[in-house]
Amino acid sequence: MKVFIEKDFCTSCGVCYDTFTNVFIEGEEGISEIKPELKNKDLEDSLLKEAISAAEECPAGAIVVK
Ligand code: SF4
Repeated sequence: MKVFIEKDFCTSCGVCYDTFTNVFIEGEEGISEIKPELKNKDLEDSLLKEAISAAEECPAGAIVVK
């Protein structure tokens, strides 16, 4: 499974890149980004768990795991 960010929905709250630092980084103007090496990659279990937790905690529903 892979993780994606719907950047149009991201409100730059920082929850994902402050908490789930193995997957997310702060991008321009605080918009979240996936770490470059993980973009469009199937995530190993520990990273997948972080991505799913972030998706659950993102107040904007901007993180999609599929
Ligand atoms: S938790 Fe959601 S709204 Fe907040 S920075 Fe991350 S993607 Fe954006």
